[in-house]
Amino acid sequence: MATFKEFRNNVKPNWCPGCGDFSVQAAIQRAAANVGLEPEQLAVISGIGCSGRISGYINAYGLHGIHGRALPIAQGVKLANRELTVIASGGDGDGFAIGMGHTVHAIRRNLDITYIVMDNQIYGLTKGQTSPRSAEGFKTKSTPEGSIESTLSPLEIAMSAGATFIAQSFSSDLKQLTALIEAGLNHKGFSLINVFSPCVTFNKVNTYDWFKENIVNLNEFPDYDPSNRMAAMNKIMETNGMLTGLIYQNKERKSYENLIAGFQEQGLANQDIQLSQDQFEKL
Ligand code: SF4
Ligand code: MG
Repeated sequence: MATFKEFRNNVKPNWCPGCGDFSVQAAIQRAAANVGLEPEQLAVISGIGCSGRISGYINAYGLHGIHGRALPIAQGVKLANRELTVIASGGDGDGFAIGMGHTVHAIRRNLDITYIVMDNQIYGLTKGQTSPRSAEGFKTKSTPEGSIESTLSPLEIAMSAGATFIAQSFSSDLKQLTALIEAGLNHKGFSLINVFSPCVTFNKVNTYDWFKENIVNLNEFPDYDPSNRMAAMNKIMETNGMLTGLIYQNKERKSYENLIAGFQEQGLANQDIQLSQDQFEKL
């Protein structure tokens, strides 16, 4: 069985020292090993942004895709080879701005994919602009007088889109983050894991200390039931989206690939389909 170190390749990450994304990579490696995967059983598909580099640093199949399009690629990979465990990853700009249309529909489609968003509430790769996750009043070079747009709540959007698994964590809490990624990998459907992953270079407001002061850990509520949709929505709103832990899980709904009528019966699953040029032109 592979150890977590076997999920690391020899490429040195070029994230800034202290970037939260280092811990996210470590947590993915640990979770993959803990659920018993081998590197050749995992594909990591990422979008564009500092966090998008992660697919290049993990010893597994990987594709560093295009901006906002990690999820369409990841869904294609999963449908083409359902034996693979597929992780999609990217940042808040990638997944909740340009990629939001894909995110919402991937959630409601519910393919068996784990989507890990490194949410630093800013655009890091392009040197610090306001993102949909930035707070109102947030000042950057793109909003020098402070953002006048409301902050997007991915957890509320995921709930209303019919998500079957929603979790949130903090890159400083490696233990919780690893456990939640494991739970996401084990979930039979689409898992959204939003991770507060500080950008130490450009975001001087949402720092490690700021998150530590503002995060509400669901462990503080021993009676919390993540299968209760109404309770999950209430808790998200009560905490202004700052809660961490397993927020919601619906184990009843089948994943997309298990709902495609006749997909398995007709032997289409995992079948190598090779079309000749002649056949292709007749399609
Ligand atoms: Fe991380 Fe920010 Fe540096 Fe990008 S710019 S690597 S998000 S700390
Ligand atoms: Mg970002």
